[in-house]
Amino acid sequence: MKQSKNFLQTIVEKDLESGKNREIVTRFPPEPNGFPHIGHAKSIFINFGIARDYNGHCNLRMDDTNPTKEDTTYVEALKDAVTWLGYEWEGNVRFTSDYFAQIHEYAIKLIKMDRAYVDSVDEEEMRELRGTVTEAGKHSKYASRTIEENLEMFERMCKGEFQDGEHVLRAKIDMSAANMKMRDPLMYRIRHAEHFRTGSEWCIYPMYDFAHCLSDYIEGVSHSICTLEFENNRDIYNWVLDTLELNPPRPYQYEFARLGINYTVMSKRKLLELVEGNYVSGWDDPRLPTIAGLRRKGYTPESIVTFCDQVGIAKANSMVDVAQLEFTIRDDLNPKVPRVMCVLDPLKVTIENYEGSSEELDASYYPDDVPREGTRKLPFSREIYIERDDFEENPPKGYFRLTPEQPVRLKHGYIIACKELIKDSDGKITEIKAEYYPTSQSGSDTSGIKVKSAIHWVSGDKAKKVEVRLYDRLYSSEMPEGIEDLNPNSLQVIKDALIEPAVVTEKPDERFQFERQGYFFADPIDYTDEKPVYNKIVGLKDSWAKKRKAAPQKAQTKEKKVQIDGEVVAMTPEQESLFARYREMLKLNSEVANTLARDVDLSAFFEEALAVLHSPVNLANIITNEVAREIKQSGKEALKFTPKQIAELIKMVDDTTISNKIAKQVFEEIVTSGENPVKIVESKGLVQISDPEIIGSMIDAVIEKNPDNLEKFRAGNKKLLGFFVGQVLKATGGKANPKIVNQLLAQKLG
Ligand code: ATP
Ligand code: MG
Repeated sequence: MKQSKNFLQTIVEKDLESGKNREIVTRFPPEPNGFPHIGHAKSIFINFGIARDYNGHCNLRMDDTNPTKEDTTYVEALKDAVTWLGYEWEGNVRFTSDYFAQIHEYAIKLIKMDRAYVDSVDEEEMRELRGTVTEAGKHSKYASRTIEENLEMFERMCKGEFQDGEHVLRAKIDMSAANMKMRDPLMYRIRHAEHFRTGSEWCIYPMYDFAHCLSDYIEGVSHSICTLEFENNRDIYNWVLDTLELNPPRPYQYEFARLGINYTVMSKRKLLELVEGNYVSGWDDPRLPTIAGLRRKGYTPESIVTFCDQVGIAKANSMVDVAQLEFTIRDDLNPKVPRVMCVLDPLKVTIENYEGSSEELDASYYPDDVPREGTRKLPFSREIYIERDDFEENPPKGYFRLTPEQPVRLKHGYIIACKELIKDSDGKITEIKAEYYPTSQSGSDTSGIKVKSAIHWVSGDKAKKVEVRLYDRLYSSEMPEGIEDLNPNSLQVIKDALIEPAVVTEKPDERFQFERQGYFFADPIDYTDEKPVYNKIVGLKDSWAKKRKAAPQKAQTKEKKVQIDGEVVAMTPEQESLFARYREMLKLNSEVANTLARDVDLSAFFEEALAVLHSPVNLANIITNEVAREIKQSGKEALKFTPKQIAELIKMVDDTTISNKIAKQVFEEIVTSGENPVKIVESKGLVQISDPEIIGSMIDAVIEKNPDNLEKFRAGNKKLLGFFVGQVLKATGGKANPKIVNQLLAQKLG
């Protein structure tokens, strides 16, 4: 799953190798003051992921040091999110408030060491005394309080003798430190407020900078991973732990870049404003970037984890295009979900020459390129409904659907032609009288009639009325600044869409592709069989792939509409013929063929690589994913590698010299060094190990080292197979041929 090692993995591996840490312990430390969002998902992915990758563990810790904003509802939402994403925390959920007594002891210890004091200046004076970036700060007159005085004052603070804000406890560090954060940071403040767990037991609360490092230490955390805005707080983190001279090992802090996504907001404060102001229906409104919202919209946990993996872990903040998230869920659902028909804006069609009363047509739930099976019966009758959009009385050029002159195919059914229009007094079409061709049934068509497209439809008497909720971006601005940027059309509710009956009666799945409309999810809260409700997860069109087009295409001839998987897209004739070549000659799947055909840079790259190595599917894969990502990030001029190198790389995969996993590592090398892939593989000894004897002995070693897991596996915990595979792969530095590892393990674990 990993693309290549990120900087955190490199650090962790080094620390394990050097013996600095025997076990990797991380934590995910949210403040329970709001529902988690997809930025938190990234932090969850990193913290739990690293622990899982290196056989350590990750704690879930509520950072509950601010009594006025926190609540158990949020604790539950955080637990739900972690579990739903597929992770397990170690032991019980932890709370910083569990450590209040210990943290208080450490504060007293610092006072006794004369490394902390009670300050009593007001906020404004404190700010003035702190100085500026270019000017050193000055000591408050209270900084010279004696240890005895400080102990007494701190005790009185703790007993509740003072008002909020009257005094604070500060670390005594350096008022002229270049890092402003080190100018005697606050460690405790007075807050007379009811805490959701400790009630009124405390009226002083530790500040983040004091509580966090100590909580990490108390829990035995080895790597405390946080976001970049805490970079300057790292000095305090180290100062507290070093000054207290705690027994080793102690935790160290590492920072990574926050995830930002355009067209949305990602701060709990701003999300709270939307929820409390009723701009959305709640924390789980499908338009929000909260985990609860994405989940209700229909996102799968796998797609979110994949997204977090693909955006990577960097040291510089950046903005990710929301289209990339949409791309991931589309990619996840495309090979999985049933295709069904739902008409959102129904227009009645009466088939006048239909003699029988009704019949049932067999239709597969899945297209040919989805490796799943299942069919349903589609009722067909004299009265059907089609999408209003799929008929044009005065069609523009290139309109391929039903018109007074042009017949169309009903998907999985017959070809129909329009005979007569019925309009109301406003001239709006209320019904189409049509005829059908009895010999044109899909799959056994002998009619000889040519049509240019197939449209979705439902039968009039058997279709079910359903509510469909169409979601668009919550904000109309790419970088929203406030409520004024909200998109007024972010939700459209269609009360009387019509769906084919099997979707409701058979429920082949919870998620569907509504043909030609997009992916939809049965709303987990409001759905009932009497009143089905579906949420739109994402449309079919890959707007991200389109955006990846580097430069505007030159000398474009006129675009025309082409159908791909039932979706109508605009393509120039050149793109269309490329697409046909990729689909038919090279057997690429339609998504990949579409991406390549519509992007001149990618298709040029692909064609050059293909000239060196005829391995279309594997080349297309790496080019539409990894290469496309590099072009998107740095532009094609900045690429250090050539199509020939990519072909050489894929050649080694094809002839099993290296595994796919190693190929990705080598790719990352080529990206930065531009080196020859064959040389990289040779010089680093990355050649895949396929020898069953060598792999067998590694498996034996792993099994011997993990008797407990072996026992659990044999007792029925089959999930542990993944663990063993991972261990063996790790033991070989990812070089073992995974197929052979799997086969041999299956034999040996028996
Ligand atoms: P927000 O600003 O959205 O309220 P926060 O940082 O205050 O977020 P916390 O509850 O303190 O939220 O965060 C818990 C953990 O999640 C922290 O380690 C934090 O660094 C991380 N985190 C929060 N937002 C993001 C993000 N956008 N990308 C990556 N990690 C994040
Ligand atoms: Mg915060």
